[in-house]
Amino acid sequence: MSQPPDGVASLLDVSGHGALVTGAASGLGLAMAEAMAEAGAIVTLLDVDGETLARVEEELRSRGLEIRSVCVDVADFDALEAAIHEAAVEVGRLDAVFANAGISAGPGIAFTDAGALANVDLESWNRVLDVNLTGVLVTMRAAAAEMRPRRYGRIVVTSSVAGVSAEPTVGYAYTATKAGVLGLVRHAAIELASSGICVNAIAPGPFRTNIAGGRIRQPEIAAVFAANVPVGRIAEPSELKGLTLFLGSPASSYVTGTTIPIDGGELAGHVLRERTESR
Ligand code: NAD
Repeated sequence: MSQPPDGVASLLDVSGHGALVTGAASGLGLAMAEAMAEAGAIVTLLDVDGETLARVEEELRSRGLEIRSVCVDVADFDALEAAIHEAAVEVGRLDAVFANAGISAGPGIAFTDAGALANVDLESWNRVLDVNLTGVLVTMRAAAAEMRPRRYGRIVVTSSVAGVSAEPTVGYAYTATKAGVLGLVRHAAIELASSGICVNAIAPGPFRTNIAGGRIRQPEIAAVFAANVPVGRIAEPSELKGLTLFLGSPASSYVTGTTIPIDGGELAGHVLRERTESR
């Protein structure tokens, strides 16, 4: 078999790059961290759950991956900004930052009246906004500050299919923040394009993770989510690794300001449940 030309092989080469992932101790963030580290990047895992973070760091290091970690709440904005700066200083460079940490706003109207407009609780609303929206803004700001002088960077924000289209399985604050980050991505992309920094969002469909206490791992809940997915199932976090490497590497140099669904076809349209006429 012929070898790919060098230029093609180097597109996905992130060896020696500095990467940082927020919400990296579990689920999609862990898959992103693994993808970048397995491809040779030096990855900082940032998470609020110190115990799980320590266990994950040790496990990844035992596989020979270059990993460091920092326990921070992304809603502690000063600490977040300081941690991102420190990651850049310690590793010596910061090439790719994944603003991924996020929390559920409780189940939506597909499951319970507690998810209805009349029942939106403002205390919970504000916490979800701090983590899912302002935390992303501050992550992007701190990342851009490190990337600008080197005129290279990749910022990837985890939105959701719920940020693109109405999704009755999730709560109002979740929908609002996941739509909000898409605006941040577009705005930052046009500001940072001339500095060699690409800013994009991903819109995952349902993945088997620990969000909302791991509800989606229950077969009956997974079935509700899978019913909207043409591929017919929820996804495993490892299925995010290819898109992670594309968006986190030089390969995506002309992709910026956009949202890439990774959703088994959910945003493409209605699921074809059955044909109305015989074949
Ligand atoms: P998860 O709960 O498995 O992982 C989230 C991680 O983020 C956890 O390790 C948690 O400790 C950390 N975290 C939570 N709040 C934090 C905070 N304030 N500061 C720092 N770390 C914090 O969930 P997940 O599904 O992997 O979620 C990751 C992202 O993917 C979220 O933004 C979520 O909204 C988004 N998403 C998930 C799905 C899905 O189906 N799982 C779909 C679309 C979007």
